[in-house]
Amino acid sequence: MRGAMIHGPGDVRLEQRDDPRIEEPTDAVIRVVAACVCGSDLWPYRGANPVHRPSPMGHEYVGVVKQVGDAVTSIRPGDFVVGSFMASDNTCEICLAGYQSRCVNVRPMGALGAQAERLRVPLADGTLVATPGEPDADLIPSLLAASDVLGTGWFGAEAAAVGPGRRSRSSVTAPSV
Ligand SMILES: [Zn+2]
Repeated sequence: MRGAMIHGPGDVRLEQRDDPRIEEPTDAVIRVVAACVCGSDLWPYRGANPVHRPSPMGHEYVGVVKQVGDAVTSIRPGDFVVGSFMASDNTCEICLAGYQSRCVNVRPMGALGAQAERLRVPLADGTLVATPGEPDADLIPSLLAASDVLGTGWFGAEAAAVGPGRRSRSSVTAPSV
């Protein structure tokens, strides 16, 4: 399959990469329908973060499930799914407290590279949410926003206790990648 790889500042290449496959029973493999270029992709692109070796890019994505591992129960092949930028089990104490991006089993999706034709998603039950049916094409940008910035923004608004007609009590930075 083809996927984006960063080799150094200003050097992103579309390359032939190995097709992802189920490696753990909790995995899913999806066909990526759309993926974002995130602000945090630009840090290494601009040289603000070092690039030690050629690395896959992308962690915001929506797609169609192609295959699931034996332990996956909440999604199935053919489902259209929105994925989180951090894979999480959604069952540990930290997840249940609402901090999925800090799950004890967390895996950053950027390491797997969502800017590609296909993507392996670990902890698929906790990481992917199926939409009711296939969304219209014009809805896909909004679903992509749900993959990262909506969650980050929501967390920030909650943490700062932002409400209608009310100033935030504190200024906090939401965790992001
Ligand atoms: Zn967890």
